[in-house]
Amino acid sequence: MAERRPLGPESTPEQLLAEVLRQNKVIEALMNRLERNAAGDYRSEFDELQTAVVLRSEVRRHTAALEAALGGNERINRQLRESQMKLLSVVNQPLVGISTSEEGKFTFANEKMASMFGYEVSEVVGRDVLDLVAECDRPLVAEHTRQRMSFRGLRKDGVEFDIELHGSIHNLGVRPMAVSIMLDISKRKQAELRAEELHALLREQSIRDALTGLYNRHYLDAALELECGRARAASDVFSLVMCDIDHFKAVNDGYGHPVGDDVLVVIASLIDKSRGPADLAFRYGGEEFLIVLPGHTTAMAADWADALRRVLQAQTMKPEPNAFGITASFGVASFPQHAQDHGEVIALADRALYEAKRRGRNQVRIASPIHGQRSPQLAEAPLERSAQGQR
Ligand code: GH3
Ligand code: MG
Ligand code: MG
Repeated sequence: MAERRPLGPESTPEQLLAEVLRQNKVIEALMNRLERNAAGDYRSEFDELQTAVVLRSEVRRHTAALEAALGGNERINRQLRESQMKLLSVVNQPLVGISTSEEGKFTFANEKMASMFGYEVSEVVGRDVLDLVAECDRPLVAEHTRQRMSFRGLRKDGVEFDIELHGSIHNLGVRPMAVSIMLDISKRKQAELRAEELHALLREQSIRDALTGLYNRHYLDAALELECGRARAASDVFSLVMCDIDHFKAVNDGYGHPVGDDVLVVIASLIDKSRGPADLAFRYGGEEFLIVLPGHTTAMAADWADALRRVLQAQTMKPEPNAFGITASFGVASFPQHAQDHGEVIALADRALYEAKRRGRNQVRIASPIHGQRSPQLAEAPLERSAQGQR
């Protein structure tokens, strides 16, 4: 017969119950014997009676212990039910999807998770995890179920959407269980995209001139600094062309300010069309423009400016019978030929422009080098192509 283990506080309710039943049987047997041997040996009967009394008190003790254990068990069950309710209310919140999976199949899904993918909970449980992942992201999800990641989810209706998943693996039972907390981040992704677009638009607007669409003066310093750095690093050159419309006040005075604006827009578009893909065109002031020509020597830039001068001169502003034309004057300076600082290159181009105006307008003038000179000087009209008498 197997040895009985003594009962104690750690005994389970089943063990206590078994012991109580066993002892009840022993008492019953003893009582029966007492009744049957009423005329027997007094001593023996007394001993048996004493044993029965002791056993009865033992049974009472065990019964009490059993009741306490069962009561505790009931408390534990109630606590378990309460925490299950709490867990369910947390798990069934409407914000994030939660699921568990074992061996690549869903074993649990909350309502949010199922509805995110267009399913009922009952349709998700038992389904392959990868059924809910768009083709393109299946290798990613299959490989990284433990980590945080975002991927394109695949809804029941075939529509793809953005999901953020926080995964973890738990070894609770025989098989490892993957717990996934999922967030539908479509709206967040769209908002991020819109914010990026808006940011790009605002940045673009902040460096563009509202009337002509050319870069504005605000952006010039940064752009020129970049260009100086590039040219230095590549041992390259760049040139600046400064352009100012001749007698523009007369256009405003003769045709009105709005027509003046239209002329500025036309000129800006002609400059824009004339420039190469790497060249940058700025509205430098009211009717002044500045063009940065990377890789252009002074001679190349002067030729480019003179071609533009002729284009502008040939352009008719306003249709007949109100047609009129404009001319412009140009100053050219180069890095590093004339100066090695972008501020100085601008100043020299401006001086050359001033000289073009002084010499009669509608012409291109080139700056002379600043190095070894007392002050910015202008060459003796190395390029002086003008069409005098236009205005
Ligand atoms: P020049 O350059 O040949 O010496 O003569 P100018 O008449 O062009 O003289 P200046 O450069 O000093 O005058 C520029 C004029 O451009 C003054 C101003 O009324 C006009 N202007 C500046 N900005 C704008 C603008 O945005 N729209 C219009 N319509 N006019 C402008
Ligand atoms: Mg001006
Ligand atoms: Mg002018």
